Amino acid sequence: GKVIFNGHIVDREKAIIHIEDRGFQFGDGVYEVIRIYNGKPFTLKEHIDRLYASAQKIYMEIPYSKQEVKDLIINLLEQESASTCNLYLQISRGVVPRNHVIPETASPTLIGYLMPGTRPVDLMKTGGKAVITEDLRWHYCDIKSISLLGAVLAKKKATDAGCLEAILHRDGIITEGSSTNIWMVQNGKLFTHPANQFILNGITRQKVISLLDFNQLPYEETGFTVEQLQNADELFLTSTTMEIIPIVEVDGVKIGNGTPGDVTRKLQTLFEREIEHECGH
Ligand code: PMP
Repeated sequence: GKVIFNGHIVDREKAIIHIEDRGFQFGDGVYEVIRIYNGKPFTLKEHIDRLYASAQKIYMEIPYSKQEVKDLIINLLEQESASTCNLYLQISRGVVPRNHVIPETASPTLIGYLMPGTRPVDLMKTGGKAVITEDLRWHYCDIKSISLLGAVLAKKKATDAGCLEAILHRDGIITEGSSTNIWMVQNGKLFTHPANQFILNGITRQKVISLLDFNQLPYEETGFTVEQLQNADELFLTSTTMEIIPIVEVDGVKIGNGTPGDVTRKLQTLFEREIEHECGH
């Protein structure tokens, strides 16, 4: 197959990363995962904007225009006859002799390729389980950094417990999941952590907020406690690849009556309409 490599579309075998690439050695880079439905990218502009915002936060200048990156993506989707899958896009600082100091001249390494991925339709219906664990990541969670060890170690806690996700808390306040944003419904109102340095402002999170605004559903971007989460009427997570997944059990205890709630299911329907509207179905 073909991949995006430094401004071109090349055969996958031709895309080879240097041992002194700072992405490889320092985790010095940023990335995006973009959902492709029926060969069409969903919320492409939002993802590209966030990639450039992440790059700016780490003092990296992307040597391509946003339009050039979008064109590369559209080109790749065409050449690969993409259907429903995920696009992984990463840009690292580039290749320079190993040194912590950010080099003044380095030419960033851009890669992009398609990964298989179907919609998690069963999980959407039945919901998944989660564990709660301390958020031991750093304080730059708003940057979509390729340094993911904190997230990887948190996710291990979930999978070791046979769960889908690890829900993280800082000093008793729920931040987000290891790779998802977390939402609570209490008395018909939705709550999610504000978009600051303690969470990644998910594109799916932002899409849900726009749906809440448009449909005049009450919500607050406010942190809530572990105890509030345990006593929530409904819980769900959002992410590009998982969309909206009910969380029906946390640390072995049922949330609400242990089945997906009405507000969550309504949002799933509204979200599905957005996908259909943007990408057909
Ligand atoms: N938080 C974290 C830590 C994540 O890694 C992700 C997905 N990569 C999200 C939230 C969800 O973001 P999005 O909806 O943009 O996929």
